[in-house]
Amino acid sequence: MGQILQCKCDNCNYTRKDIYLGSGMTPGIFYFPALDLQSKKVIHIDINDFIEVVERRNLTITSANVNKLEGDGKIPYFVKGMFKKGLIKDIPISSSPLTLQRKNNYCPKCGKYKLSFAEIGLFD
Ligand SMILES: [Zn+2]
Repeated sequence: MGQILQCKCDNCNYTRKDIYLGSGMTPGIFYFPALDLQSKKVIHIDINDFIEVVERRNLTITSANVNKLEGDGKIPYFVKGMFKKGLIKDIPISSSPLTLQRKNNYCPKCGKYKLSFAEIGLFD
């Protein structure tokens, strides 16, 4: 089961719902929140073809694959520069290397690191 997220910016109130994270019933798909540079919106993209499974469920992504995604104008939120480490230790929604922090993420509207993600549901 995957998670349905919403994001909200504490600075400018930018809000987006129904952003997917993870896999549902459909095989070969793994969604991750990303920034669409062209529309300047938070979207989700399928990164399944870019991640590799090492040692059972441990996922990894090569920098070459990250470059491919960025070349496409869609930057997933685990990429360096898309989030700032907070002072408060919060448990990330998704852990390293595909990190998704709850807070201090880059907001496409105001350009500040004030975007928060929260789980609002699940999808199959
Ligand atoms: Zn903002």
